[in-house]
Amino acid sequence: MIVSLSFIGFVLWDLAQPAVLTVRVLDIGQGDSILIQTAERRSILVDGGPDNTVVYKLGEYLPFYRRTIDLVVLTHPDSDHLMGLNEVIQRYQVGAVLLTGVSDDAGAYQSFLELIASRGVQAFVAGAVRELTIDGQTTLMILHPGQPLVGQTIEDSNGASIVGQLRAGGFTVLLTGDAPLKVEAALLKAGADVQSTVLKVSHHGSRTASGEAFLRAVSPQLALISSGRDNRYGHPHPSVVERLTGLGIPALNTQQTGDITVRFGPAGFSVTASGIEGLEK
Ligand SMILES: [Zn+2]
Repeated sequence: MIVSLSFIGFVLWDLAQPAVLTVRVLDIGQGDSILIQTAERRSILVDGGPDNTVVYKLGEYLPFYRRTIDLVVLTHPDSDHLMGLNEVIQRYQVGAVLLTGVSDDAGAYQSFLELIASRGVQAFVAGAVRELTIDGQTTLMILHPGQPLVGQTIEDSNGASIVGQLRAGGFTVLLTGDAPLKVEAALLKAGADVQSTVLKVSHHGSRTASGEAFLRAVSPQLALISSGRDNRYGHPHPSVVERLTGLGIPALNTQQTGDITVRFGPAGFSVTASGIEGLEK
């Protein structure tokens, strides 16, 4: 029954007037995986979560005849962002990859690099590239890192997370990976235009990120948190949830709502969640 509902869902999506942008924070457990579809039907996958759950999610949300993902972004090679991507690259025709190219000995990361090389996938290095044109209406601005980190060993891998801002039709979505407070401070100091319609909260709502000054600068209308049910880290941290509440920023969390879909249209945006019963006010 779920399969047939999904089938109807994506057929309607394909026949309906396309939205300006659709952003889905996938409920893949403790990690990040975000599927983005643009007005001109380009697809972007930002991170792949901690296992292959993402493959099933893509099957649910992409039409069965579409075996292409135009851009895969690996914000940083930690396993909760990387692990699902290797299966995705083997199952889908991936047009390009955006990554930092940092050095990391982990086997899954080595496999990822080998897969994109052996399949001839075009690789863009964040920092060397500052802006990617996704289609005629959609741009991905790369706010961090500010310079290429290829081959560098980074002690705090989160500190080298790609921070990207997607811009389409007057809307902006800030994608933060697991970027910590020091990256937020550096962006503010550099005067980066972080103000965004929707914020993907950094690091699953960890208290190592989402400082008040940064949240005020982003001033999102909606904050999205990706974290696993009963995760051992206690993400999201109560202090981050309180900070969002205190600033009047509504927040949704995948461990309570399931997949979160934000559809941006000419008149604004709408939000739906697969596990409605958990939807917070
Ligand atoms: Zn993470």
